[in-house]
Amino acid sequence: MEKKIDESVQGATLTLESNEKNTRKLYIESYGCQMNFSDSEIVASILAKEGFNTTQELSEADLVLVNTCSIREKAELTVRKRLEKFNAVKKINPNMKVGVLGCMAERLKDKFLEEEKIVDMVVGPDAYKDLPNLIQEIDEGRNAVNVILSKDETYGDVAPVRLNSNGVTAFVSITRGCDNMCTFCVVPFTRGRERSRDPQSILEEVNDLWDKGFKEITLLGQNVDSYLWYGGGLKKDYDKASEIQKASAVDFAKLLELTALAQPKMRIRFSTSNPQDMTLDVIRVMAKFENICNYVHLPVQSGSNRILKAMNRLHTREEYFELIDNIRELIPDCAISQDMITGFPTETEEDHKDTLSLMEYVKYDYGFMFAYSERPGTLAARKLEDDVPLETKKRRLAEVIEVQRKSSLYRTQQHVGKVQEVLIEGPSKKSDAHWMGRNSQNTVVVFPKENYKIGEFVNVKSYDCTSATLLGEAVSYSKNN
Ligand code: SAM
Repeated sequence: MEKKIDESVQGATLTLESNEKNTRKLYIESYGCQMNFSDSEIVASILAKEGFNTTQELSEADLVLVNTCSIREKAELTVRKRLEKFNAVKKINPNMKVGVLGCMAERLKDKFLEEEKIVDMVVGPDAYKDLPNLIQEIDEGRNAVNVILSKDETYGDVAPVRLNSNGVTAFVSITRGCDNMCTFCVVPFTRGRERSRDPQSILEEVNDLWDKGFKEITLLGQNVDSYLWYGGGLKKDYDKASEIQKASAVDFAKLLELTALAQPKMRIRFSTSNPQDMTLDVIRVMAKFENICNYVHLPVQSGSNRILKAMNRLHTREEYFELIDNIRELIPDCAISQDMITGFPTETEEDHKDTLSLMEYVKYDYGFMFAYSERPGTLAARKLEDDVPLETKKRRLAEVIEVQRKSSLYRTQQHVGKVQEVLIEGPSKKSDAHWMGRNSQNTVVVFPKENYKIGEFVNVKSYDCTSATLLGEAVSYSKNN
């Protein structure tokens, strides 16, 4: 069920095609959300031009980078353990340099250099273009830190190197930072205020991906529905834009439409949608274009109005239901997934029951569920006592997961017996004789390979399922092929 923070890829090392001219070796590990993995592709692109080839062998690395996550305490603990491991390797290879990138670097800033003695370089998510200078600093024996958050950095002009890619699906960043200020969340502090990327550079990247053979893209941001391009700058400064800038502004519905039109055969997904920002226009555009997948990731975090307010989620349970009803009316077979937090400060059994009943109403296709973990610096950490006992958080989490398991099974069963278009992503993990792909709703489909190939669109008839996987047989190529 974990897709957004995919446990199977946590700590994955990235491998690039080697360039003969490059003489130094980079070992880079990534943790956290898709945004972080996407950022590592930007970092690798910048460093490939600085003479680095990637390696999977820690012991032979000249530079070790760890792209970190601060969302939950567990993520930070994992990174600290990895740093201990790097320390052991550094004792054998004293020339090796270690850099920390990403959200944890931004949160701890130069405290990192004091706390973790082996760290040579600390780089926040908006400072990757400064990496060549920072590396020069550490080469000359000085520690280097750049954690300045930017008003306009979107890396729109850096072509990411697609790492460990299946060559079929890719992420395209469209916004950076977040303005929502959910009280549990560290993102606005680690990734800065929200800014959108120039639509022209997004479309160029999408066209380039199509030319390279990619067949599906996911437009990526902390809150994609809040996308707003008016010539650059922070979203919060839109009020100060000129009349011309406002008249020619591009919002998310428009961007989605432009992308769907630019590559009519490319499958388009997007993530993450915040309920308060998702408009009817976006749903209408989804309904209008066949190449936009029928799937929305729509985190709600809690089903209780009282808790939603304490979390500073700017909508009510009733408004969320209205949005769900609108999606189902305009796109009847749309899949919907959630993020949920159990045990937020002051959460009572009554609040928890509201969460369970909301889940029963929506019957989500998938879910990403977490026990609340207090994050230093957030509004909740400053203002609210973390007063729900761990045992209670865990028990509520187990109950939430159980409801989700049942509705996942129910939703997956609805696809059985149907013929659906599936994009082949690669071999099935369990069987060499089978392909794995996804239908429009993002459900995994496994079917015999026959003569079909990776990257092809195939019509598959499903005959059985588990809660998360459809089993089927290909019946023909789809018309999209
Ligand atoms: N921007 C998205 C949103 O607002 O829904 C996603 C943010 S975060 C990268 C992904 C998920 O982690 C959140 O939706 C939330 O469920 C979970 N999360 C964030 N902070 C958390 C915390 N302090 N404790 C537990 N879960 C947390």
